[in-house]
Amino acid sequence: MDVLEQGPWMVQNIPIILNKWSPDISLTKGDLTRVPVWVKLHDIPLVGYTNDGLSLIASKVGKPMMSDSFTSSICVEAWGRPNFARALIEVSVESDLKDEIKVATPSLDGHGRTTDLVHVEYEWKPPWCSCCKVYGHIDTQCPKVQPKVLEVEIKQKQVDADGFQEVIK
Ligand SMILES: [Zn+2]
Repeated sequence: MDVLEQGPWMVQNIPIILNKWSPDISLTKGDLTRVPVWVKLHDIPLVGYTNDGLSLIASKVGKPMMSDSFTSSICVEAWGRPNFARALIEVSVESDLKDEIKVATPSLDGHGRTTDLVHVEYEWKPPWCSCCKVYGHIDTQCPKVQPKVLEVEIKQKQVDADGFQEVIK
């Protein structure tokens, strides 16, 4: 029923990741609460560029799914400094997607700590429904949303299409 309507964007966005890492997850189930997404971690302090450090940082975003191969996925700028780390992280619908992570590291002089802000860039954010609290569809595609709301939106789109045709004439 709803599966067909949700089809197009799912085909565009999800299957490469899900097929590769979670072949058993059914996209048509409609009750996804966990989704693996690729994230780039920017502005990581240099001491954080270890498997343990990166795992720790990534675990603040969600559940790291490639913790053993972090170092191989670090992208290095031309002049040698690590630019960002790329990781596959399973995010949960129960917690908001974080854009920043605070990382405290001991200061170089041994006194106190330095706080760095690691910025999280999501290569793809899963569609999320605030009504059902699941990934897989957005609010306007929610089967639980009042039919009246959907009707209004469809009418609005038709008006737009007509307007566009007039411009062409
Ligand atoms: Zn919904």
